[in-house]
Amino acid sequence: MKKLEQLYEGKAKKVFLTDDPDVLIVDYKDDATAFNGLKKGTISGKGVVNNRMTNIVFQMLEKKGIPTHYVEELSDRETAVKKVEIVPLEVIIRNVAAGSFSKKLGVEEGTKLLTPTLEFSYKNDELGDPFINSYYALALGLATQEEIDTITKYAFAVNDALKDYFAQANMELIDFKIEFGRFHGQIILADEVSPDTCRLWDMDTHEKLDKDRFRRDLGGVEDAYQEVFKRLGL
Ligand code: ADP
Ligand code: UDP
Repeated sequence: MKKLEQLYEGKAKKVFLTDDPDVLIVDYKDDATAFNGLKKGTISGKGVVNNRMTNIVFQMLEKKGIPTHYVEELSDRETAVKKVEIVPLEVIIRNVAAGSFSKKLGVEEGTKLLTPTLEFSYKNDELGDPFINSYYALALGLATQEEIDTITKYAFAVNDALKDYFAQANMELIDFKIEFGRFHGQIILADEVSPDTCRLWDMDTHEKLDKDRFRRDLGGVEDAYQEVFKRLGL
């Protein structure tokens, strides 16, 4: 497979075309941003962790019947993926209150939720990824009802699989964001699953092992990514 011109450069990854029209190559960077790009920095080694972790997680999810964009890991930062049309919804699942949920609803961080929740943000940087519901998504033509139903079903199945996967590495999955795409008419999981997009806390000490260390200037950012890498045996 031949890497052709760059299609897109995002905040965390570069995306390249290939000689196969159905395949892209994603290249994970060490760049980190938070608060819709207002805070910028570098997390050394992050790209390697996020690439490897996403690939291992996506292969695990495939085995559990969730279709993903994963094709082949090409190097420690590069992976071939199916080229999808991204559904412009950030799908967020929560098991424990944290971040914007805690702030908005006045629920202390770390409070276990009685049931997992699902929410959508409209993936639009200019608008700051506003919170929307499925009626907005339908009204704006972002997805069909059938697609929303499939996305919802897959997102909860991803949560069940990830909770167990992280638990065996003594980490609690607090919340995460995933994205889906359309590939030849089918909804598949795309983008990434990494400490950039998940909140992961040590089960015993509740130490944060994710991007909140960067967002909140907690220090030990690189170490946290390396700790996740080590615990998952990546
Ligand atoms: P952002 O665009 O939010 O800054 P990234 O730096 O992670 O994010 O850039 C990767 C971009 O590629 C994202 O916009 C993501 O939605 C998109 N993407 C992820 N997987 C695929 C895929 N399989 N096909 C097409 N686009 C994808
Ligand atoms: N998240 C993400 N990208 C975003 C927004 C959120 O990956 O643009 C992830 C974030 O890492 C966390 C979850 O989604 O695991 C829920 O984030 P929240 O809504 O609490 O927002 P935040 O507190 O990060 O602003």
